[in-house]
Amino acid sequence: APPTIGSSVIPIVNKLQDILAPVGSELSNISLPHVAVVGSQSSGKSSVLEALVGRDFLPRGRDICTRRPLILMLENFQPKPGDHNGEWGEFRHLPGQRFYDFSKIRQEIQTETEREAGYNKGVSDKQIGLKIFSPNVLNMTLVDLPGITKVPVGDQPSDIEARIRKMIMAHISQENCIILAVSPANSDLATSDALQMAREADPTGSRTIGVITKLDIMDRGTDARNFLLGKVVPLRLGYVGVVNRSQEDINKNRSIAEALAYEERFFRDHPVYCGLSDHCGIPQLASLLNQILEQHIRMVLPGLKADLNSHMGGIVKELRTYGDAMESKGEQGVILSNILTKYCEAFSAMVDGKSNKMSTK
Ligand code: GDP
Ligand code: MG
Repeated sequence: APPTIGSSVIPIVNKLQDILAPVGSELSNISLPHVAVVGSQSSGKSSVLEALVGRDFLPRGRDICTRRPLILMLENFQPKPGDHNGEWGEFRHLPGQRFYDFSKIRQEIQTETEREAGYNKGVSDKQIGLKIFSPNVLNMTLVDLPGITKVPVGDQPSDIEARIRKMIMAHISQENCIILAVSPANSDLATSDALQMAREADPTGSRTIGVITKLDIMDRGTDARNFLLGKVVPLRLGYVGVVNRSQEDINKNRSIAEALAYEERFFRDHPVYCGLSDHCGIPQLASLLNQILEQHIRMVLPGLKADLNSHMGGIVKELRTYGDAMESKGEQGVILSNILTKYCEAFSAMVDGKSNKMSTK
């Protein structure tokens, strides 16, 4: 299967959690960066997020579809014998109600959007909270945001642009937010709203990835080569170009798998993009994000290890006061701490590319 967001990190984090869970729950929750999409309306933000998750569930379309921020919490769920082993979604406003059918999730996002923001293109900053439980996701949060619009339509107030910008800034100015700055290739990339807002929120460009969508519908005779190579607007983490499903594909219910196969062929057969494979495709974007997540985990591991050691030190001391009977508990702690040390080493080696396989034995 092609990589989805977090896929390469799931085994690492699960293993860490296995090690840390018996020691203390506050240690076992590694907080990962959020990923948010920013860009003008209909630039393909929701399409990109959906493809990264590998499931169809977001409202997408030519018109303004995303009218409230959607906070999408992915939760890794390892089914135990007897559990329903499918993936499901659960909304914050409908606690306890499991959605196994992802098209129903899309319907509910629409209904809930309309409840708050009306039927006529209104926008609201009240968030919709959705959790997706799946064995194939990493515990992390993705944020789908309304796009930047200039001219008020329908029920939109005259200051719609300022309101949406404020809503977007509230999310992407957070230091732990990875920004996917989405610009459609069939508009003027050099004046992209997405890149302007991203630069405002992240002036050093240390957490912004440029995503160029709609490479399939550029003017004939033009291509985004220089842009993808960062020669027009340089960006430290670089650019990835993608081809999402078109409106026709959406109308015909094309699946994500079909879309990825089409995208792959498009880039492979393209005279310009075939030589830029590092910069092309949803799988490439997913790998880039996974590398960033791996680096992040590697950065937090030493702190985690220090926390764990002091935690164990405290437990061992406390157990001593109970006498010999409890000594074995203390030993268990030492063993856990040793496992974690080995684990950190193995992990660093893996990220450094010295070894592809990880062993905690
Ligand atoms: P958002 O408003 O930024 O969330 O954009 P959507 O994901 O809802 O997409 C807006 C419209 O653009 C939809 O009709 C999509 O089918 C279409 N679209 C998005 N990305 C691409 C692409 O790469 N190629 C083509 N041909 N259409 C796209
Ligand atoms: Mg959208």
